[in-house]
Amino acid sequence: MTYSKLSSYRKPLLAIALIATGPLLSACSTSEATGRTFFNGGMSPEQEQEVGRTEHVKIVKEFGGVYDEDPALTNYITKLGTFLGKTSETPNQKFTFTLLDSPVVNAFALPGGYVYTTRGLLALANDEAELAGVIAHEIGHVTAKHSAERYGSTLTAGILAAGVGILTGSGEAARAVNTVGNLAVTGFSREQEFEADLLGVRYLTRGGFDPNGMGEFLTQLQASSRLDATIAGDPGRADKFNIMQTHPRTADRIDRAIKQAGTTTVKNPIVGRDVYLKKIDGMLYGDDPSQGYIRGQKFSHPELKLTFTAPKGFRLINSKTKVAAVGPSDSVIIFDSAKGEFNGSLKNYVVNKWAEKADIRNVEKITINGMEAVTGSISINGRNGKRDFRLIAIRFDGNKVYRFTFITNPNQTNSLSEDFRRTTYSFRKLSRSEAAKLKPYRLKIHTVRSGETVTSLAKKMPFADYKLERLLVLNGLNKNSRLQRGQKIKLITE
Ligand SMILES: [Zn+2]
Repeated sequence: MTYSKLSSYRKPLLAIALIATGPLLSACSTSEATGRTFFNGGMSPEQEQEVGRTEHVKIVKEFGGVYDEDPALTNYITKLGTFLGKTSETPNQKFTFTLLDSPVVNAFALPGGYVYTTRGLLALANDEAELAGVIAHEIGHVTAKHSAERYGSTLTAGILAAGVGILTGSGEAARAVNTVGNLAVTGFSREQEFEADLLGVRYLTRGGFDPNGMGEFLTQLQASSRLDATIAGDPGRADKFNIMQTHPRTADRIDRAIKQAGTTTVKNPIVGRDVYLKKIDGMLYGDDPSQGYIRGQKFSHPELKLTFTAPKGFRLINSKTKVAAVGPSDSVIIFDSAKGEFNGSLKNYVVNKWAEKADIRNVEKITINGMEAVTGSISINGRNGKRDFRLIAIRFDGNKVYRFTFITNPNQTNSLSEDFRRTTYSFRKLSRSEAAKLKPYRLKIHTVRSGETVTSLAKKMPFADYKLERLLVLNGLNKNSRLQRGQKIKLITE
């Protein structure tokens, strides 16, 4: 959640799809990488550039901006990406590599050679070969013109809508959450993924990398997804919140791509572990201070100076405009702010503006930690049946109004009401000194000293739980891994 953008941000990609499919319906184009000719809405290289340029602005916005704190790191990614791009069938294609300031593990490409990675992905990779594997795969999507193909498809709208459901694991939550971040880019087909892997293997091999780095990163990612889901109390929801959504792949299929690519084995392949770890040393980890921090079940925003705690079993998701918490049986909590400045009656706002078209009941005034608040309830018969909404508007500071929306299946409303009440009353202002104490996490490369073990190092991590598991997953280690003196290891510090 960002200070300036609360509840005003909307991000439809649809406009682009319509432009692409509008007046240009009859054209085709050919990918030099695959030799395949396909209908792509007729995008010339110039049009691809144009679409990419327009979308680029939106993507950067949606994913929390560019991570530009460390120019050496930015240059490193551009250099590595440009090098891999030169090994492709279109060495003159212009590529633009962008590192996004997002803790989510993701990577994707747009028409016109726009390739994205996130700092969340960088934190998870263990060496240059793994990162090269990710980038080579994205370059494969560009050279095979997959994104151009997709933008030319009228299915785009449907895919976009589905993407929301995938992210939240629930259609109901999807509609409620609406624009939780990271939805702008949706998945390719399995065939396209396989093709991008094939091409990626080719570029990696030509560049002197071992293509198995691609599979190694995938293994790393799967372990990380499983741990995230376990921490959130819902192991079944693994693999839906990250790059698996934009690039559905399995290790088996990558192995098959490596065999099918038929490239010769690289002798003494580049691994680049030390060089890579040095580049990511000191990088921001987890939430960015300008968007507020999720720490366990607690959301705190040092700039907006507020905090609240979600019930156990709810998974908090932070986006530009709101914080959502997705819970059991399609229940959702949304926290956001009323649009703009506001100085009238709070009750009037809730009844006549926020719940304008709904039949709001049980409207009452309450006080939350000294702040004036108004609450009411609504029942709506939606496509997926009936849903209960509990609305709470809180006058925070003069004209600033924050809002909670609690959405439940009617058969859950009673059992969750105490949890929701507690979340409501956990909302409070942060003092200046409390806010000052909230520091972002950073990734630190530590050189192992004699006597240090994974267990002793895990104790240094600032997390409240799963310290050892987080350390192991972050470094691609297991409980029995023995550390050598002088070995480099990733730690998270505050
Ligand atoms: Zn892919």
